[in-house]
Amino acid sequence: MSAHSNVVNGRSIPLQTAFGSGSSVVIDSCQVCGSSQLKQVVFLGYLPPVNEMQPAGTVPHELPSYPVNLLYCRNCELVQLGLSIDPKLLFPPSYPYTSGTTRILRDNFAALYRECREIAGLGPDDLIVDIGSNDGTLLSNFATHHRVLGIEPTDVGAIALRHGIPTIQRYFGKDTALQVRNEHGRARVITAANCFAHIEDVHSVVDGILELLAEDGLFISENHYFIGVLDRLQYDTIYHEHLRYYSLRSIKYLLEMHGLEVIHAVRIPTHGGSIRVYAARRGTRPVLDSVAQMIAAEPAGDAMIERLARFRSEVLLSKLRLMSILRDIKETGGRVCGISAPSRASTLVCYSGLDDGTLDYVAEIKGSLKIGKYMPGTIIPVVEEAKIFEDQPEYALILSWHIAEELMPKLREKGYRGRFIVPLPVPRLV
Ligand SMILES: [Zn+2]
Repeated sequence: MSAHSNVVNGRSIPLQTAFGSGSSVVIDSCQVCGSSQLKQVVFLGYLPPVNEMQPAGTVPHELPSYPVNLLYCRNCELVQLGLSIDPKLLFPPSYPYTSGTTRILRDNFAALYRECREIAGLGPDDLIVDIGSNDGTLLSNFATHHRVLGIEPTDVGAIALRHGIPTIQRYFGKDTALQVRNEHGRARVITAANCFAHIEDVHSVVDGILELLAEDGLFISENHYFIGVLDRLQYDTIYHEHLRYYSLRSIKYLLEMHGLEVIHAVRIPTHGGSIRVYAARRGTRPVLDSVAQMIAAEPAGDAMIERLARFRSEVLLSKLRLMSILRDIKETGGRVCGISAPSRASTLVCYSGLDDGTLDYVAEIKGSLKIGKYMPGTIIPVVEEAKIFEDQPEYALILSWHIAEELMPKLREKGYRGRFIVPLPVPRLV
């Protein structure tokens, strides 16, 4: 644990980071604004890291778990976890997530490229840097027309390299930014998709972005949208990797602390509802109407506190209702399998207390690195999807419920004849 602080625009913000400690640190002041007035939203229990998946068939052994305690900062509107865990524990080199396997993500990054090209007016020599570049899916859209560089801390970066996307395997911060600037020059565009919420020292990330960004450059971040979490009851996206949950208000507060201005914001469909936020150095670009419009629609202050209280009771009810459906099925001897094992499935399974008596197995599409492992915190094995067409369990619980409408017809087409259970936002049988 380190006890130093960041100085942002003359303000001292306590830095609570577990990086390198092999352990965790309690967050007792806001990671963005430093306020110590944090209000508890909901406590989801002690959960294992979502990608801590032990090989199926092994004898269960020690597995760490950490509290998932969600907090709200009234000063800057940020919602954040009350515990930060050493990223080396959360993102082992064997991290089994690849973005290229999800069609919605591939389409989204193609759309990002088109929109970005229009707003930024990119030339062939312009450099695009992606922070947390994963398997290079985002950059592959830019790579044939512009210079690109991915920065990715895990081994997944090797997949990007194999596909011809230059990638360096490192965590991003000011040091990495300076090194990249020295070797490649400044970036016209810096993207950070779904990692801006993951990195502990967010002020250092923004400082690094400013070091690397060209004077007329664009910083584009994509984050799961907290207002969408509330509206669609996506509590299952709350897990240790996601330290912060942004509204446009809170991300704007953060960027403005560093002299960046939000110039455009748009809602996008990834991860069940995200926001893409464009920022530039203050005064360098016109601010589009989308910014004020989105902010006006977000609850804040007392309205947010009321909304959060409602969220808490809805989360509890959704669990009890799911249990009630499963109880009826189990009383008549029905078999239930799970469909797909995204990270969010881990929160749903562990918070709801689903075990190997409830779910016989979880089916993943062929090629998934999760096949042959246990769901975190359980001994429910993850198997290849083909098994459900052979077995025909009477019920299939859609753990990727945010894409249920896309998944159900596909599974029918492939021959699954049982009924579907969609667990959220309101548990229902289809
Ligand atoms: Zn705050």
